[in-house]
Amino acid sequence: MDTSSVLVIYTGGTIGMKQNAKTKTLVPFDFSEIEKEVPELKKFKYKLDIHSFKNPIDSSNIDPSFWSNIATVIKNNYDLYNGFVILHGTDTMSYSASALSFMLENLNKPVIFTGSQLPIDSVRNDGKENILSAIEIAASQQNGKPKVPEVCIFFENKLFRGNRTTKHSAENFNAFRSYNYPALAESGVEIKYNSPAIAKPKSNKVLKIHTKMDTSVIGLKIFPGINCDFVDKILNIKGLKGIVIETFGSGNAPASKKFLSKFKAAIDNGLIALNISQCQVGSVEMERYETGILLKKTGVVCGKDITFEAAITKLSFLLANNKAVTVIKEKLQKSLRGEIS
Ligand code: ASP
Repeated sequence: MDTSSVLVIYTGGTIGMKQNAKTKTLVPFDFSEIEKEVPELKKFKYKLDIHSFKNPIDSSNIDPSFWSNIATVIKNNYDLYNGFVILHGTDTMSYSASALSFMLENLNKPVIFTGSQLPIDSVRNDGKENILSAIEIAASQQNGKPKVPEVCIFFENKLFRGNRTTKHSAENFNAFRSYNYPALAESGVEIKYNSPAIAKPKSNKVLKIHTKMDTSVIGLKIFPGINCDFVDKILNIKGLKGIVIETFGSGNAPASKKFLSKFKAAIDNGLIALNISQCQVGSVEMERYETGILLKKTGVVCGKDITFEAAITKLSFLLANNKAVTVIKEKLQKSLRGEIS
């Protein structure tokens, strides 16, 4: 008997939905019936338990309070299981995996998000493989230690660091990409782990969960011809504390005095602005072009190769857990959970 144990946490999403015979829409089914849909689960020799949220959701409805509930379930069960699998809708899975990576401090067990593009009761579906492989990964140990002590996403045949991912396809089974960090494992006949890429726990400290996120943040995608007066209105929204700006290429933005002065004024007034690239591959380097340097001079912080999903959740997390703007800016430029290179 394998002594490993895994808690499967069901939050909602297509993986746990069936077609309603009358309305023909996808609705969540009672997840305690999962073994009927995936009888292979019985073949696992691990201890396997299911925690199902009372009201499963389409992940488009997820919010920080739901993330906080997931973190609390993990905390309450942390000593009882070797690993956790979170079944979640794909639409916002990268946001949730990023958020959880920040909320779970000193994590040294696997937390594997997975889901599916097709419901698990469809004849042809991706959910079964995803759930079975995610459970195997969450249970995997080497010398009594978990192989992947990180928040990850497993999808189709790849395991990624969660806070490096983006949902890339609304139609393919390989729905996720991690453009700036290699896969942590690949499943084929065997599951092959990319050990050098997997984070090692930095300490034996106990798991600490942070359940607060500050949602006084917004994202702004720059485009040629962007209206400076509109930008000004956004930067001056009452209560706004942080903004993620998606700039061109390696972190460049229009060099017009009008545009830049709006940013400088808002930043001097305490707004935190994080510069990330609209390109998915590569990193922001604000000293490469004059257009980047000018933006840097306004006080915009360099986000390096962070994804939008990780940037917005990291900013919310830092704003909720730190008071000093200087400390937040410093932490934005450091890797807290492997989210930047
Ligand atoms: N709308 C669904 C969700 O994110 C899509 C999915 O599960 O793939 O909950």
